[in-house]
Amino acid sequence: MVKSSPPADSLSWSLTEGIDATHLVLDSIRLGRSESRTQIEERTGLGRAVVAQRIAELVARGLVSEAGAQASTGGRPARRLRFRAQAGCLLAVDLGATSMDVAITDLAGDIVGHANEAADIAQGPDVILTRVEELLDGQLATHPGRPIYGIGLGVPGPVEFSTGRPVSPPIMPGWDEYPIRERLAARYGAPVWVDNDVNVMAMGEWRKGVAVGHRNSVFVKIGTGIGAGLISDGVLHRGSQGAAGDVGHIQVGDERSITCRCGNVGCLEALAGGHAIGRDAELVARAGRSARLAELLEREGRITAEGVAVAARHGDRASVELLARSGRLVGGMLAGIVNFFNPSLIVVGGGVSASGDGLLAAIRESVYRRSLPLATRELSIVRSGLGGFAGVIGAAAIAADELFGRDRLAVTLAGAAGGPPSASTAASDYSDPRQEGAGAPMKAGQPVVARVGRMEEKGR
Ligand SMILES: [Zn+2]
Repeated sequence: MVKSSPPADSLSWSLTEGIDATHLVLDSIRLGRSESRTQIEERTGLGRAVVAQRIAELVARGLVSEAGAQASTGGRPARRLRFRAQAGCLLAVDLGATSMDVAITDLAGDIVGHANEAADIAQGPDVILTRVEELLDGQLATHPGRPIYGIGLGVPGPVEFSTGRPVSPPIMPGWDEYPIRERLAARYGAPVWVDNDVNVMAMGEWRKGVAVGHRNSVFVKIGTGIGAGLISDGVLHRGSQGAAGDVGHIQVGDERSITCRCGNVGCLEALAGGHAIGRDAELVARAGRSARLAELLEREGRITAEGVAVAARHGDRASVELLARSGRLVGGMLAGIVNFFNPSLIVVGGGVSASGDGLLAAIRESVYRRSLPLATRELSIVRSGLGGFAGVIGAAAIAADELFGRDRLAVTLAGAAGGPPSASTAASDYSDPRQEGAGAPMKAGQPVVARVGRMEEKGR
């Protein structure tokens, strides 16, 4: 809730009055849609005086700079407006079933530092988040001096976005309802947003990967499990509880012998996910239908989807067919999504998607054969462009969108007063409607300042 009485300084007062206009102007600059005052006026429909006033505020807050001359069609050369991404940093975390990625990015979500290592999510929140914190601390020590504005984190399970808590995540024992947001917010003194890992990847590709410009796109992740993230009319579509895109449990068969981890039979994931590919490859090996897979099973004791992909690349026909079958099943599901949602782009990512062209070809073939012609006229199906970085880039983008979003912008700007935050901001005049009651601290930005102080002592 924003106070209605004027805060001490006039800058803050004008912010409370015109946060909608400020939001429009900042997003226009931040997302690279406009570079000059005239372009912002045209894009937002705001008047010249209002735009000038909002830009002056954003410059005073250290989030926008104005420099250089832009090519002009006559008259005075327009000065170019830039988002000052270096004004602070974001922490981004992408937790997978078997790996973790942490990154420090600038406020535009461009990676400044990154670390990756193998991890087993089933070890539980204490072990995993302690290691995440160690890796983040290492990155912060390597790249000191920037205030932490916010934190974005993706986990491989369903998340209630409004609270940031995992809800009955099937492959994350011990994580159900775990207060990830509260833990990281207390440690780093910055607001935290948690989302499903497929949503963060969809967001990464939409902001900086192959989906840039596609306002309606689907990201499908084929890893151990299968899930999808939807960008609908330029916005990440989470659904009413945050469960949108859980396509791995759509029924695509009725093999009663295979029970999915969700307890049902016939789920896409149980028939076509990475675990299913490995399991079926072992059956093929034991049945004597592939010498290469039999040798792999003998040597390793088990077969993974990656092993099948390697065998397929070496021409093992049984492996090629296992991946093609997975691709056909995923493609059949996607054909339903295409008819229902009419995206212009499908991005295929996740560990299994890197297995070669056969899988992608089978997906394409199924989608084009089973979707309506109008829905596929402009449809492209491509592999992820960001690969392993899609998650952290997307997590940073989600945090940035929330920080600079309409509902929170007053709080963020108050914390950013006068460029690099100082302890004397007017932030205590604001409270955050989104996180009130959710237990996350975003009081006054002081924890951020405290953190910066420590970093500066360490770094200089
Ligand atoms: Zn299932």
